[in-house]
Amino acid sequence: MKVTVLAGGVGGARFARGVREHARRSGDIERIDVVVNTGDDWWLAGVRIWPDHDSLLYTLAGENDDERGWGRRGESERVAAELQAWGVTPPWFTLGDLDLGTHLARTAWLRAGETPSQVARRLGTRWDLGVTLHPATDDEIDTHVVVEGGDRMHFQEWWTRHRASLPAIRFEHAGIAKASPAPAALAAIGAADVVLVAPSNPVVSIGPILAIPGMRDALRRAPAPVVGVSGIIGGAAVRGMADSCLAAIGVETDAAAVARHYGARSRGGLLDGWLVAEEDAASGPALTADGIPSVAVPLWMRDADTSARLAADALAHASTLRADARRA
Ligand code: GDP
Ligand code: CA
Repeated sequence: MKVTVLAGGVGGARFARGVREHARRSGDIERIDVVVNTGDDWWLAGVRIWPDHDSLLYTLAGENDDERGWGRRGESERVAAELQAWGVTPPWFTLGDLDLGTHLARTAWLRAGETPSQVARRLGTRWDLGVTLHPATDDEIDTHVVVEGGDRMHFQEWWTRHRASLPAIRFEHAGIAKASPAPAALAAIGAADVVLVAPSNPVVSIGPILAIPGMRDALRRAPAPVVGVSGIIGGAAVRGMADSCLAAIGVETDAAAVARHYGARSRGGLLDGWLVAEEDAASGPALTADGIPSVAVPLWMRDADTSARLAADALAHASTLRADARRA
């Protein structure tokens, strides 16, 4: 079986690690592809930074700093101090030395004319990831945030400097109208037996992927069932600030509200199925009536076991949906 996952950074990485762990235990997954959000990407100090891609890369490589939750383990910040002394990076964004090595390598390859997809392929060969990472697009679609009062800033400034505390009015992607999905990302969606939407931030991680012209169509046409996992548990965004993002687009911080925001694939939306936490089980029947059959399972990814279990539950739900579709 081939599994393709749509994902952002930290939540996406935990989930992708769970799919890989389940693959190792069950032996019935031959291939895992991850279509990665590129909306968080930006240029800083002359280098191209891919936060979500690198969270996935480091986590799957076992190189992630698990205590901090992001960046490289054993990281130092000597260069960062110099960059800040020169005023080339702002005090609220620290580029670790090891991490900077990744950004320099990436930027060198990009400057040599490689596409982001080609660069991702190179970055993916250093460690045995067990997963192939694909930028959702080869075009630059960096997310910008328009806040109350009309100021517009790069997503990283809003997220990292202001901790998503400035009320956002909307999210924009410069250049998105001319962007297209990366061919390798499209191929992974088309070839999948199951497409899983990670419990990533629906607005700024999954949102930019879906906003790329042609991506929604590709997902609607995909022969595989599309099953999503809620990142909202009991009305709260676990380990994240998804609530500030959802508020900006007028969606309640609630698992069922997010499912309806994605929409039923049978009615022009994204999802064939949805996984909610057990405490949100009561929303199931109404979602099923809205064309999004839902199951309630443990959603916390605390370790390899719980993450693998969640991946197994998502795949089991997908195979039930496929069997139902065959019977219909
Ligand atoms: P980011 O790009 O680093 O912000 O990470 P993502 O967008 O991939 O994921 C962030 C989201 O993951 C958070 O807003 C949470 O809703 C979700 N999340 C984090 N940990 C867990 C978990 O253990 N279980 C579930 N279901 N969701 C989680
Ligand atoms: Ca992100």
